[in-house]
Amino acid sequence: MSKVLIIAEHDGSTLNPSTAKTVSCAAALDAAELDVAVLGSACAAVAAEAATVRGVSRVLYVDRPDNAAPVAAVLAPQIAALADGYDYVFGPSTTFGKDLMPRVAALLGVGQISDIMSVEDSYTFKRPIYAGNAIVTVRAPTDKTVVATVRVASYQTAGDGAPAPVENVSVDIELPSHTRFIDMTSDVGDRPDLQVASVVLAGGRGIGSAENFEILYRLADKLGAGVGASRAAVDAGYVPNDMQVGQTGKIISPDLYIAFGISGAIQHLTGIKDAGTIVAVNKDPEAPIFDVADVGLVADLFAVIPELERQVGG
Ligand SMILES: Cc1cc2nc3c(=O)[nH]c(=O)nc-3n(C[C@H](O)[C@H](O)[C@H](O)COP(=O)(O)OP(=O)(O)OC[C@H]3O[C@@H](n4cnc5c(N)ncnc54)[C@H](O)[C@@H]3O)c2cc1C
Repeated sequence: MSKVLIIAEHDGSTLNPSTAKTVSCAAALDAAELDVAVLGSACAAVAAEAATVRGVSRVLYVDRPDNAAPVAAVLAPQIAALADGYDYVFGPSTTFGKDLMPRVAALLGVGQISDIMSVEDSYTFKRPIYAGNAIVTVRAPTDKTVVATVRVASYQTAGDGAPAPVENVSVDIELPSHTRFIDMTSDVGDRPDLQVASVVLAGGRGIGSAENFEILYRLADKLGAGVGASRAAVDAGYVPNDMQVGQTGKIISPDLYIAFGISGAIQHLTGIKDAGTIVAVNKDPEAPIFDVADVGLVADLFAVIPELERQVGG
């Protein structure tokens, strides 16, 4: 029976839900052991949280000051050392995992399978290509460690289970010093991470300006929602690039996605096809977003957003 190692994503104080989604994917491998590695600094609470994800056999907690920030160049060699004896090493296909896992694969001398959306058998996986317009079935070599990222939008979070043991593990290797953490800034403030938010409001070119995005932020904050954007809104400088949803942005799967002033280009739709309910507000009744929307409102967004805000109150 095989052994799986999952790399936890966290911010030093809480576990990112992408980890429990990666566990859901790995559970389909029917492995004998499904361990989660938490690399961090003084974040025992994160390790304890990872231990309660259903299906986890054991948490390997690597507590080291060098791991205070998620620098891929620093984490990857430790993960490569931890991977000894494991048949699979999985991480989420989030910005964190996309940055980290290719380095792990390179250090282990294997190729990476990106964006697993379903496990067909122990070494056969489905993944999207051409912006999700085609699904390819890939087979990994059976004599090598499988390093992969998991398309978190394709999986539900594994629920809570009985706490698994947490083991403190030290990885005694010299870490590279060529890449150092300087600072982390986020333009999206305290709003929920787009890739795990249950409600996302998104604005497109129709919003018209960075200033006009403020009305969307206000509504989002009342709803506890994340805020996304189309590429046109990013290119116009209305919002930062890490808010972009779509083929060259983030792939998201909220329960509710509301698009304001977004036409529904195929590259944008690629990012939201796993959303539970899609609501579109657009003044053009011919906008292609209405073809995929569960609820469509042909209206001026500048009338709809204040009205929604009024209804939500607070
Ligand atoms: C290789 C490649 C990759 C790409 N990747 C992405 C990607 O990741 N994400 C992405 O989003 N795009 C991506 N694009 C760009 C994509 O093709 C579209 O250009 C883009 O999504 C359009 O953004 P939009 O819908 O905001 O703008 P538009 O297409 O200009 O649509 C604006 C919409 O706003 C509506 N509107 C205007 N005013 C109002 C109002 N007052 N009230 C209501 N509605 C209003 C209009 O009717 C219109 O439908 C990519 C393109 C390429 C070629």
